[in-house]
Amino acid sequence: MANTLHEHCDFLIIGSGAAGLLTAVKLAPHGKVALINKGGLSDSNTYYSQGGIAAVVDKEDSVESHVADTLAAGAGLCHEDVVREVAAMGRAIIDELVAFGTPFDTRVDTNAAALDLTREGAHSHRRIAHVQDATGKAIGEALLRHVDAHPNVRHLQNHVAVDLITSARLGGSPQANTCIGAYILAPDGQVNTFTASHTILATGGVGKVYKVTTNPHAATGDGIAMAWRAGCEVMNMEFMQFHPTCLYNPQGSTMMLTEALRGEGALLVDKKGRRFCFDYHEAGELAPRDVVARAIDHEMKKSGSDCMYLDARGIGEDKIRHQFVNTNQRLLAAGIDMGRDLIPVVPAAHYMCGGIRTGLDGTTGIGHLYVIGESACTGLHGANRLASNSLLECLAMAEQCAAHILESGSLPARDRVPLWDTSGIRPEFERVPIKHNWDEIRATMSNYVGIVRSNERLRRARRRLHLIQEEIMAYYWQHPVSQELLELRNLSIVAELIVRCAQQRRESRGLHYSTDYPETLPVAVDTILAPGTGNP
Ligand SMILES: Cc1cc2nc3c(=O)[nH]c(=O)nc-3n(C[C@H](O)[C@H](O)[C@H](O)COP(=O)(O)OP(=O)(O)OC[C@H]3O[C@@H](n4cnc5c(N)ncnc54)[C@H](O)[C@@H]3O)c2cc1C
Repeated sequence: MANTLHEHCDFLIIGSGAAGLLTAVKLAPHGKVALINKGGLSDSNTYYSQGGIAAVVDKEDSVESHVADTLAAGAGLCHEDVVREVAAMGRAIIDELVAFGTPFDTRVDTNAAALDLTREGAHSHRRIAHVQDATGKAIGEALLRHVDAHPNVRHLQNHVAVDLITSARLGGSPQANTCIGAYILAPDGQVNTFTASHTILATGGVGKVYKVTTNPHAATGDGIAMAWRAGCEVMNMEFMQFHPTCLYNPQGSTMMLTEALRGEGALLVDKKGRRFCFDYHEAGELAPRDVVARAIDHEMKKSGSDCMYLDARGIGEDKIRHQFVNTNQRLLAAGIDMGRDLIPVVPAAHYMCGGIRTGLDGTTGIGHLYVIGESACTGLHGANRLASNSLLECLAMAEQCAAHILESGSLPARDRVPLWDTSGIRPEFERVPIKHNWDEIRATMSNYVGIVRSNERLRRARRRLHLIQEEIMAYYWQHPVSQELLELRNLSIVAELIVRCAQQRRESRGLHYSTDYPETLPVAVDTILAPGTGNP
């Protein structure tokens, strides 16, 4: 198959969730933007964000308090300078989103101009700006209107980034490695070459590495795997946040039940109706997510139950109908009336606190390559993300990334970049190996690298992943690339990175709990892996 297209643009943005969209809005007035995604807005984590964005907006609240809450949730591992910078940007980001047309909920009781702020677990103030319980969708739609209206933006849906093109891969020095662009799989099966002055990976999370996840299909860690293959370091990948309360629905798909429900008074109970969260933490249902997720996991294992229950009956019909419209509708569709019934819940893989090691502006160890949003690790979340800090981080990174790009020089356009090589490729005749390995990776991660870990479980996971990777690599180089194959390869890489980071951490901290090292060490150290270095 011939490679037919070579395009050059100023800014190649891969991913159109909150991080990619805001970056596109900021860069569009300054040059040609190619914005690539695997699917529509609904195939991004952004679309599913329910609770909202944490920001200091209320007079009674303070940046200092937001910083203190973030540091406490992060269990000693947050980078305080980053936390301060992001918390201080909150108000301006909300104002900007309002100016872009995000219809944040306002208070109906006292002052219609004031934002309605909810309170979520481990926040000491009401500081979550929201649009009902579908905040990410509303932000995404507002940004998308600006992106799609700008003549400088080419928004290419259903395109899949395959790999980065770097100077080192073209024979240049690895020490002065520069990103030149990426190979992109188009819907017609062609792998096209996109070169750019600046390449931005905004490809979101990795939830699909686990069997039960709140993330949509796109969350296969593609950007993390691509940047790692190109030579970037990863940081703190052992810290996968499991959302404590996802609908237990063995017959159908799961959905996340926002923390705001517990903020508004919903209780967690076992099948006999007993509240158990206070057995684990003095804040009960409003304890940090990792504590609540482990409490549910422990109660399920202790009682042999498939799930625990969220009792939202005390919230009241009025609030349920107005504040939790989306949740209520989706639960009703699953046959549950949250005003009357207990809601069966289980923890599910939700948010990756680690990722490619970057500055808050998304800069990486590779020139002209930026990684932003959930794929990046800036040090904001430390060992555990404070609820609703992630959209804030995505948008803060987008602002700073665009500013950094606009201050830095362009790369000269390259006309001689090798085309995607399809020699030696034979037609695919069966898909079983892809499906089988996909299922095996997710089962391995769920069984051995879930909420509670041990040395033996991690060793087992590593051994299995090694075998799976060998098979995938053999298959990869002999068959035409497809979205499924690319995702499988990336999934196997991020799974291995999670395991390797977990093996390197010889303590329990935040979201990482090991039965072999239950103590927290006195000094908190980031886990950093560099490509090509030895195993832990
Ligand atoms: C159910 C749910 C609820 C949440 N609630 C909240 C909340 O209330 N508050 C909060 O702060 N955070 C919340 N989060 C987390 C937050 O939504 C994410 O961290 C954030 O939206 C990530 O944005 P992003 O732009 O980095 O990535 P995403 O929004 O996930 O976007 C990733 C984009 O990359 C594209 N992509 C991926 N791989 C490729 C590839 N190979 N080629 C081309 N394109 C690719 C995808 O198609 C997509 O467009 C929630 C997450 C979930 C799943």
